[in-house]
Amino acid sequence: MVIRNVSLETVCGITSQIPEHEIPEFAFAGKSNVGKSSLINGLMLRKSLARTSAQPGKTQTINFYNINNECYFVDLPGYGYAKAGEEVKAQWGKMIENYLHTSKQLQIVFLLVDIRHEPSGNDKLMYKWILDQGFSPVIIATKLDKINRSQVAKHVKMIKEGLQTVKGTIVIPYSAQTKQGREEIYELLDTYLET
Ligand code: GDP
Repeated sequence: MVIRNVSLETVCGITSQIPEHEIPEFAFAGKSNVGKSSLINGLMLRKSLARTSAQPGKTQTINFYNINNECYFVDLPGYGYAKAGEEVKAQWGKMIENYLHTSKQLQIVFLLVDIRHEPSGNDKLMYKWILDQGFSPVIIATKLDKINRSQVAKHVKMIKEGLQTVKGTIVIPYSAQTKQGREEIYELLDTYLET
């Protein structure tokens, strides 16, 4: 995949209609602070187009980034702020559910988890929930640079076991600092793109 043009095309709030596209969509989910914005920026070769470190309580949106008019990266709202009120949590669930149900072009749901830690209760719920919606998430284990190289296999195993991933689930360790893992993600996306 070669990145030529990227733009934030649509921002959906709770009452917005999900846009309909003719080209593939790739969605990114994960708890707040896991490194989702950093990953999306890294894939788009931009420093800060995707917002970083969303604040707790901030309006939750689904952001559609148009990539080369070839595909969309769909930034789903981050979950797991303990302090978020019940209303925000309920909205968040509704928005993601609505998107997963509505999109006709969604090809891959990437679920981001921090490579250092056992998946949280919310990560496990999210994984199961995405499965229940009919998708088999590809796991991206973020912040790869924060662990020793010799520990990577052990941590990937811990994440697979923690999430109880289905057989054949792909786990891609990724670092926003070194961009390790980026080519593997591009190659996966390429299998859904025509050019
Ligand atoms: P988001 O809330 O999921 O969008 O997370 P951000 O992308 O804003 O990242 C949260 C924090 O983690 C920021 O301080 C980032 O600089 C840091 N971060 C994200 N990815 C990495 C990574 O791969 N390595 C390291 N060392 N830090 C990262």
